[in-house]
Amino acid sequence: MKIVIARTAGFCMGVRRAVDTVLDASNDQKGPICTYGPLIHNPQVLDLLKEKGIPAIATIPEKGKGTVVIRAHGVPPEAKEALKEANFAVIDSTCPRVIKVQRIIHRYAKKGHHAIIIGDRDHPEVIGLNGYAYGLGHVVETLSEAKALPDFENAILVAQTTQSVKFFTEVKTWVAETHPHYLTFDTICDSTEKRQADILAIAQTVDAVVVVGGKSSGNTQRLAELARESGKLTFHIEDSDELDFDQLKGLKSLAITAGASTPNWIINKVYRAIESGTASEKRLFGIPVSALKMALLRSNAYLALGAAFLSYACSMLQGIDNWLVPAAVAMLYVLSMHIFNHLTAISADRYNDPERADFYDRNKWALAAFAFTGGGVGLLLAYSLGLFPFLVLLIMSLAGLSYNAPIIPRYFFQGKYRCLRDIPGSKTILITAAWATVTALLPALTSSQGFALSTLPALALAAGMVFSRTVFFDILDMQGDRIVGQETFPIILGDDKTVRLLKNLLITLAVMLPLFSAFGIFTGLGFVLWVNPVMMFILLIAYQKRFVLAGVQLEFLVESHLVCSGIIALFWSLFLG
Ligand code: SF4
Repeated sequence: MKIVIARTAGFCMGVRRAVDTVLDASNDQKGPICTYGPLIHNPQVLDLLKEKGIPAIATIPEKGKGTVVIRAHGVPPEAKEALKEANFAVIDSTCPRVIKVQRIIHRYAKKGHHAIIIGDRDHPEVIGLNGYAYGLGHVVETLSEAKALPDFENAILVAQTTQSVKFFTEVKTWVAETHPHYLTFDTICDSTEKRQADILAIAQTVDAVVVVGGKSSGNTQRLAELARESGKLTFHIEDSDELDFDQLKGLKSLAITAGASTPNWIINKVYRAIESGTASEKRLFGIPVSALKMALLRSNAYLALGAAFLSYACSMLQGIDNWLVPAAVAMLYVLSMHIFNHLTAISADRYNDPERADFYDRNKWALAAFAFTGGGVGLLLAYSLGLFPFLVLLIMSLAGLSYNAPIIPRYFFQGKYRCLRDIPGSKTILITAAWATVTALLPALTSSQGFALSTLPALALAAGMVFSRTVFFDILDMQGDRIVGQETFPIILGDDKTVRLLKNLLITLAVMLPLFSAFGIFTGLGFVLWVNPVMMFILLIAYQKRFVLAGVQLEFLVESHLVCSGIIALFWSLFLG
C-alpha cells in the first residue's frame, strides 16, 4: 500500500515552541514547574508532561511556587496578572500569531470597537482573545449567531487562529454585504490554512485518510471533517492501537495527516504500524522481507555489518591488505556498544521508536549477555593484533559503557553536567570518534605500513560518514530526545541548520575522495567511493521532500549506505583495483 504523510502533519510552530519551552524549562530549571491549563490538546503529550512532573493547574492559587508556563493558546490579560501576583515566575509561551490577534482586539477595544470573534466559545484561545476585548467581545460559533448580533456602530471581525477557512469566509461575505463599515482581519493562521488545503488536495489522490490527533482538538476535528466531506474513508484516531486493519485491507493508497498538537513520535508510530500491518508478504528464503529487515535492524546486526564493511573500505583506501581481523573487531565493537546504547536509551525510545523500546525491554538480559560476549570476543581479537590495539579498544569500550554513569559524585558536584551523556552533542561525537578509530585507525595501526599519510583522511572520511548517519537519526529522534533532555546536534542547532551542515559535509566527502586519489594519497578506490556520500546526500533530500518517510524502510536505507561502502570497495578491488 502506498502511504503518504501530509507535509503539514504535526506540530505547528506555536505548539512546537510551547512544548520545547516547557521541556527545556523542566530540564534546565530548579523548582516546581507547571502549566496554566493543559499545554496542548493531546493526551499523550499531557501524559508525558505528568510523567515528567509537570502538572497542569486549572485555577490560580493565592500563593504559587516555582514556574508556570502559559500555553500556546494564550490567556486573558487578567489571568496573566493573577499568575504574577500569586508569585509564580511566568514563562509566556503564547504563540506569536495568537498574540497578534490579541493585540488587534486590544487596540480596537481601546477605541471602543466591538470584537466579533469567530470561534469555539469554550476554546482557551477564544477565552483569551475575548479577555482583550474588555467586555466588548462577542463570540460567534454559527452564521445565525452572527446574524442575531445587534448592529454596532464600530466593530471588528476576527477568527480563532484554527477556525475553518470555509466558515470564516461565509461570515466575512455576510459582513461585507450587511455591515461594510466593520473592519475585517484575516487572523486564521496560515499553518491552519495550509493544513486544511493540504488534506483537501491529498484526499483526492488516495483511497483513505487517517487523521491523527486528540479527539478534543478543534483543528484535528476540522481536518477529519474535511477528509470526510471529500468522500474518502476517514479514520480519526489518537494512537496506533485504534487502527482497524480489517478496514485498511484492500486499500491501495492512504494518507496520514495530523493536527497541530500531534507530536511526531505518534505520527511515526501510526505510520510504522500501518507500514508493518499492511506490508505485502514478500519473502526471502521463506522469511517475510519486512520481518527480516526489522530483525537485522533491531539486533544491530546490520549496523555491525556496516561497521565491518566501512572498515574494509577504509583499509582498501589506505592500501592495507590485512583487513579481515580489524573488520571483525570493528563489527563486534559496534555491535556490543550499540546494544548497550539502546539498552540505556529505552526511555527516549519510548517516544522515538516504541517497538524498539519494547524489544529491548523484553530481551534486556539476553541482549546484555550478547553484547558482553561480542565485546569480549572483540577485545580478544584486538589483543591478537597487539597490546596497543587492545588498549585502544579497551579505553573506547570503557568510555562507551560509562556514557550514562555519573563521573562526578553528587556529593562534590550538584550541577547539570555530571556524566558524559549530559554534555551537549556528546553522544554523536563519541559514536563518531569511536567508529572512526575502529574502522580507519585500527587497520592502519595493525598493518605493516602503520600510521601513514592516508590514515588521517581515511579517519576523516569514516568520521564524516558515521557523523552523517548518526545525526540523520538524531533529526528523526528530536522530539523524544528533547523529552528526556538529551541535547543532540539538531536540538542545539535546529533541524534546518543541521540538515545544511550534513549536506555540506557530504559534498566535502564526495569531493575529497577522488581528489585524494588523484594526488596518490588514497588508492584508486576514491575514484568510485565518492558515490557513497552522494547516496547519503540523495537520501537526505528524499527524506526532506518526503519521498521516503521515517520508518523501517528509511532506517534500512540509511544503514545500507555503510554496507554499500564495503560493496563498492569489493567491486573496485575485484574489477578495478
Ligand atoms: S495554529 Fe498557528 S496560531 Fe495556533 S498555535 Fe499553531 S502556529 Fe500558532
